Amino acid sequence: MDVLGRNPESRVLPTVPPSPVLRREAQLVDKPPPGKVRFKVCQMLTTEGFILMPAPSTAVRTARRSTARKATRRSVCILGATGSIGTNAINVCTHLKDQFEIHSLTACTSWKKLSEQSLEVRPKMVALNDKSSIAKPSENLRALRDQLLGTGIEMVVGPHAMEEIVVRDDVDIVVAAVVGAAGLAPCIAAARAGKTIALANKEALVVAGSIVMPTARKHGATIVPVDSEHSAIYQALRSGEGKEIKKIILTASGGPFRTWPKAKIRHATVDQALAHPNWKMGPKITIDSATMMNKALEIIEAHWLFGLPPEKIEVLIHPQSIIHSMIEFVDGSVIAQLGTPDMRTPIQYALTHPNRVNGCSTRLDWTKIREMTFEQPDDRFPALQLGFEVIRLGGTSGAVVNAANEIANEMFREGNLLFGEIVEKVEEVLRRHKKSGFVKSPTLEQLLAADTWARKETKNL
Ligand code: MG
Repeated sequence: MDVLGRNPESRVLPTVPPSPVLRREAQLVDKPPPGKVRFKVCQMLTTEGFILMPAPSTAVRTARRSTARKATRRSVCILGATGSIGTNAINVCTHLKDQFEIHSLTACTSWKKLSEQSLEVRPKMVALNDKSSIAKPSENLRALRDQLLGTGIEMVVGPHAMEEIVVRDDVDIVVAAVVGAAGLAPCIAAARAGKTIALANKEALVVAGSIVMPTARKHGATIVPVDSEHSAIYQALRSGEGKEIKKIILTASGGPFRTWPKAKIRHATVDQALAHPNWKMGPKITIDSATMMNKALEIIEAHWLFGLPPEKIEVLIHPQSIIHSMIEFVDGSVIAQLGTPDMRTPIQYALTHPNRVNGCSTRLDWTKIREMTFEQPDDRFPALQLGFEVIRLGGTSGAVVNAANEIANEMFREGNLLFGEIVEKVEEVLRRHKKSGFVKSPTLEQLLAADTWARKETKNL
């Protein structure tokens, strides 16, 4: 056993993909026409050149059904498992355990929560993305190792642990729920490996949509949005085609300061900014919602996901967060997706699409909905314009805006910045970047360099 308790003996073998015969049999057994299970299965075996077998006994059929279910379950890797999206993704997979198995979980620093989750759902693999190595394990990594010793769960260690896991043959779906630009590398790796990516990490597209999207197309990867607004658009798109879109309308709750005057917003405290009226989310995105920088990032995300120019993207304040977004098609029809503000709905749709199965999320109670109101956003939230500007500029601007915002958001939470200064800082860093350093068609290295520059510049400003 090595220093991290990785026991080569305990390595779990990859799931052997079922043979075409077994796969077809599995489908039939899983969804048998009533009363015709035995006939169908036997017929399938016969057409594949097998001897017609006597109809199996009940016990054999039950055992086969259970094997078939296992063989057809899709294997899910959850990056950022301890965060709000990650935890909800585990809930959804547990709720749909007949269809999905959790292959792996990763976290950044929350080793304790990761170990609790791992002991409960028993993934094949876990990783702590804290840049430590086998030679130099961090305290957190050692603590996690101690908790998981003897469980047979593999720990993947090192700065590229997430990339190593997502490309494995036995991973079908990657839930990309890492917060911030840190989720970019595993997202690109999953795209290169042709995986289905349930994308919650909007920053990956904001920073490097120009690389992630073509990579996904080239390698046959499917990117399904988890962000509630984009999931709504993705679902509404089943009513029409991309070329039939007149515009999309991204709804925004308006956050905690929707009714505040501009001068008061500027001096809002961290506690006030963290009190989101509708959604329960992690601290970074909750502050982003209060500044409406989150919506700016979502404007950019929508541009990349749906290939839309800025003039086809609108933002509408809808304080009740019942309509999660909508599409106006060229014929004038508007198709919206509605639901409670429960992230398990878009997460589940990302896993099961294009199918729908019974969900575990809370339901809309129409007896309790009194009104749905709408307002136009105004200049109290200047972040929105940054979103449109980034689409128009392209190049390295998304990387710079995202990085500057990550730092400014953190500085505010640490008490080193006024709330009103967050967006001002981001605007100033982008202004400086346009003057020098902007690259129109950047490589990944140039995007990462722009990210690093913007982080430093924001801190020093
Ligand atoms: Mg959203």
